[in-house]
Parts: sequence; C-alpha cells; structure tokens
Amino acid sequence: MEYALVTGGSRGIGRAVAMRLAAGGMPVIINYKSNTAAAEETKAAIEAAGGVCELLPFDTADPKAIEAAMEQWEAQHTDDYIAVLVNNAGIRQDNIMVFMTDEQWHSVLDTTLNGFFYLTRRVVKGMMTKRYGRIVNVVSLSGIKGMPGQTNYSAAKAAVIGATKALAQEVAPRKVTVNAVAPGFVATDMTKDLDEGELKKLIPAGRFGKPEEVAALVAFLASKEAAYITGEVVNINGGLYT
Ligand code: NAP
Repeated sequence: MEYALVTGGSRGIGRAVAMRLAAGGMPVIINYKSNTAAAEETKAAIEAAGGVCELLPFDTADPKAIEAAMEQWEAQHTDDYIAVLVNNAGIRQDNIMVFMTDEQWHSVLDTTLNGFFYLTRRVVKGMMTKRYGRIVNVVSLSGIKGMPGQTNYSAAKAAVIGATKALAQEVAPRKVTVNAVAPGFVATDMTKDLDEGELKKLIPAGRFGKPEEVAALVAFLASKEAAYITGEVVNINGGLYT
C-alpha cells in the first residue's frame, strides 16, 4: 500500500493536509512532537470520515528519533511504502538577530532544515526503488522575501527551497517529484499571537489564509496528476508577495 506521511500533522496546516489526503483515499501517517491529544483528535476525525490513519510521534530535530520511528514503521509495514512525504513540521522562535540566542537559532534550523534532511534522505530511498514518489515541503513567504525578526526561520525555509530544487533534479528520472509551497499568513496556532486586524490590511485578499486552502494545493502537488511539476515553489499568500 502507498502511504502518506505528514510531519506536524496533529494541528494547523499539517492536520488539514492529513485530512485532505485521507479523504482522497490514501492511508495517512501523522507525525507530531508532543501534543498527543491534538494528534488523537485529528486521527479520530479522519477515521470518522472513513479514512485510515496512524500516529508516528517523533521530534524532527532529533535524527536518532527519526531513524527509530522509521525503522519501527517499516518493520510493521513490510509490504507498504511511503509514496507521499509532506515535510510540514515547523516552529517560530522570533527575535531580532542581535538578541537571538544560540538556542533560538538552532531549534528552528534543527526542526525545519535538519528534520527535512534526515527524514527525506530516509524516505526518498523507498520512492526511488518503487520509481514513484511525491515530496512536498511546506516553506514560507519568509524564506523567499525574508522577514525581520526571523533570520533563523527565513534561513531555514530558504535553505529548504534550495534543497527542494536540487533534490528535484536528482530524483526526477525515478519519477519522484519534489516541490515546495510557500504560505503567507495562515490562521493556525503559529499565528495566533499576531495582530491579524493590522496584518490583513497588508494582504491584497484582505484576510489570512485557511489551512484547508494550503491543503488543497499540497494535495494537488502530491497527486499522480502533478507528475510534470517538480522543483517548483508555489506561493499561496492572498497576493501579499508575488
Ligand atoms: P502549528 O499550528 O504551530 O502546528 C505545528 C505542527 O508541527 C504541530 O503538529 C506540531 O506538533 C508540529 N511540530 C512542531 N515541532 C515539531 C518537531 N520538532 N517534531 C515534530 N513535529 C513538530 O503550525 P502551522 O501554522 O500549521 O505551520 C505548519 C507549517 O507551515 C510550518 O512549517 C510553518 O513554518 C509553515 N508556515 C505556516 C504559516 C502560517 O501562517 N501559519 C505561514 C507560512 C509557513 P505538536 O502538536 O506535537 O506540537
């Protein structure tokens, strides 16, 4: 069976992606770090809608935890493989650079960039062997435009964009595509401390995006139909930046 693995699938954009892929008929593996209640809630919602869902918690910032989780999953699924990988887990630790701590810098880079590397290196092997795969990396407008107060986050997302383009060329002959989606402001826990009233004045569409809108784009890039799109970064930001 072909599975989809969504990192950070317990809440926000990842939850919407997991629900959308499951609704399309794929069994979905939800990764998360620690919020088991939210992950269970997402799993229950998928199952209530007739989908198939498994939970696979691990910290994307911990290469050993990634390895252990993948070994465990593969041992329990000898006839299955992960055909769709959505690298979505991410955190913000904002600060202007002069005050940024080592911890703030490394935690964001480890979760987003190093997590992308360790997990994708592991999962792409199976896709190459099976000669089919879809990798979608959730990046950000910050990784394209750069955002003050987010040198760590902007650097991590920009690095994933570069890796997306490079990996896409490496694996295209094996029918594996690698793309990125770059949301602007999306209404999730990650943005709940922001002043939506003020920020939406900057957005031509006049509002924050919805997780389901990002999920629809991810689902298309993860579909069989999107076979000829690879190495792309698709913006989804209500016209905030083009
Ligand atoms: P969110 O609501 O804060 O959810 C974050 C998800 O990532 C949760 O499922 C969380 O798991 C998981 N996660 C965090 N650190 C992790 C780690 N070390 N290992 C495994 N899972 C981890 O965030 P969101 O807004 O949906 O953001 C999802 C992605 O979109 C992120 O990459 C973010 O940078 C990107 N993005 C968001 C926006 C936006 O406006 N919201 C804009 C651009 C890009 P737990 O539930 O266990 O904590």
